[in-house]
Amino acid sequence: MTGIVFDIDDTLYVRQDMIVAAAEDVLGIKVSDPKEFIDIYYAKSDINMDALESGRIKTRDINGWRYEETFRILELPFKAGDGVLTADRYIELQSHMALSRDMKEVLDAFRNDPAIRLAVLTSGKSSHQWKKVEMLGLLNWFDKDNIIVTGDAGISKPDVRLCRIIEEKLDLSPSDIWMIGDSYKHDITGAVESGWHSVWINRRGIRSPDIKADIEVASDEELIKALKGLIKSC
Ligand SMILES: [Mg+2]
Repeated sequence: MTGIVFDIDDTLYVRQDMIVAAAEDVLGIKVSDPKEFIDIYYAKSDINMDALESGRIKTRDINGWRYEETFRILELPFKAGDGVLTADRYIELQSHMALSRDMKEVLDAFRNDPAIRLAVLTSGKSSHQWKKVEMLGLLNWFDKDNIIVTGDAGISKPDVRLCRIIEEKLDLSPSDIWMIGDSYKHDITGAVESGWHSVWINRRGIRSPDIKADIEVASDEELIKALKGLIKSC
């Protein structure tokens, strides 16, 4: 029996493109290096996660701040308030989010395999992450009880207690579980420390320190291939 645990953002669906597109729409410019934009935006995203999860800061305000910090560092033309407008535009774009056809196919195969148990472990505010669960139709593949949102749990990634909760829900040992995620810090370090296997989606080509994922992929095509490999090895 194998447990497969998915992160949501930039794992089950790709939000990076929407983050950049929102900025381009509001500022009326073309971002010349989307990868650099995402690197800066994500570096800013790590700063206030605790405050965000506990509800001390509103998502709209913090995302507005992240955007304006990114605009400032990249010397993009913006005025005060463009950050929150961009955050609003991102929410609009997000309402069209969907799983790729390949991802749906893999999830179908996992769901139909009696040797596989699925779960989700996602960071963020409860209401936002559950909205994504609904928009992506994740209940087609995942039991609601096996979807853990850190905002509900009151613990942030990469706290290993989150892994212990999932082990209990899936009734599996750490070595039988795979974490699939894009964040080295939030998804991979916690999984490795918990004794889980992991697939790291490293789209931005970040160099990892000493802790290694079992499998590292650089693109969505490679991710789908790696996931199909898990079906065979189970
Ligand atoms: Mg993620």
